[in-house]
Amino acid sequence: QDSDRAKIIEAHELTIKLYHHILNNTKQGQAAKHYLRERGMSDKLIDHFMLGYAPDEWDVLARFLTKRGFDPALMEKGGLLSAKSDGSGHVDRFRNRIMFPIWDRDGKATAFAGRLIGEGQPKYLNTSETMLFTKSRTLYNLHYARPSIRKSKQVVLFEGYMDVIRSWSAGVKNGVATMGTALTEDHGAVLKRIAEEVIVCYDGDDAGQAAAYKSIPLLERAGLKVAVAMLPKGKDPDEYISEYGPEAFLRDAMDQPVSVTKFKLIYSRKNHILLKEEGRKNYLLEAVEIVAELDSSTEREVYLKELSREFDISLDSLKQDCHQKRQELQKKKPQGDNNDNSWNNGRNEK
Ligand code: ATP
Ligand code: MN
Ligand code: MN
Ligand code: MN
Repeated sequence: QDSDRAKIIEAHELTIKLYHHILNNTKQGQAAKHYLRERGMSDKLIDHFMLGYAPDEWDVLARFLTKRGFDPALMEKGGLLSAKSDGSGHVDRFRNRIMFPIWDRDGKATAFAGRLIGEGQPKYLNTSETMLFTKSRTLYNLHYARPSIRKSKQVVLFEGYMDVIRSWSAGVKNGVATMGTALTEDHGAVLKRIAEEVIVCYDGDDAGQAAAYKSIPLLERAGLKVAVAMLPKGKDPDEYISEYGPEAFLRDAMDQPVSVTKFKLIYSRKNHILLKEEGRKNYLLEAVEIVAELDSSTEREVYLKELSREFDISLDSLKQDCHQKRQELQKKKPQGDNNDNSWNNGRNEK
């Protein structure tokens, strides 16, 4: 119902202000504020993203909303309150967490992510799925990033909220993140509507790189151009900025995204022991398979030449293998997905 939706959004807007006030102006909020400071969050950033603090109590929000005439049952549906198990009323869903408001793409406040102060599990707690909030379609910061994405036709995809916020302060105004879940086809479609290219900038650890690897075909299927900004030393963007500063982050990662092919080659390389002959051989075979996916024969040749030089293998034999891989790829492709262009390139190879 429309009136229910409007109420839930209104309640979220008030709750954002309440939590923000508690963070900034109360004794209860001091530890959370200190934590955010230690993590390099300025007052300006905290205000812009309206970060807040949900106190370590059962019913601060429940009382606040009830007093203002909101129906607790509806607030439960909206994800702000939880029903007590004995049915005797409602309690706050979020307690003792730093609160990140989530706005939908139109800027309507519809959900929260809450982070523990310090270590513990679960580190982040989100609003559960509601009539206004669907994780598989939501991208954090899309409403702020939208103008910049539309202008540049480019969007930067991060893993975490802190990554979006810290890179925003470093000057990356077109950054968004998923809600701690894997990227979906729906996300791809949402992005395709306003962008042409996605720069994937996931955490530099193994999990982040594996997630980046998986997100590539999904984004490509959505019709987006993809490049990958890689972070040295296994750090995530937020950690990298804390450690080396915003300029280093822009220079080392954002300013030099690599092509999907390059990324896949680097990724595959890490899985092989190049000091051993067997490892070198297997890497080369995998590398040729990766290069074979490229539709431009010029691009293929660039990579094959590089491999030829580095591993001292004749360009001819690499090309032959690549040609064969392309034929296998063509056979695997479902009918109708065959475009003339790639068929031609395959034939021109030898
Ligand atoms: P922080 O810098 O605050 O520690 P992060 O963004 O670096 O957080 P990661 O562990 O890299 O955290 O995870 C990436 C994203 O996955 C998070 O931003 C969050 O959205 C989500 N996430 C991580 N841990 C959990 C969890 N336990 N439950 C739900 N979501 C989580
Ligand atoms: Mn991670
Ligand atoms: Mn991270
Ligand atoms: Mn982090």
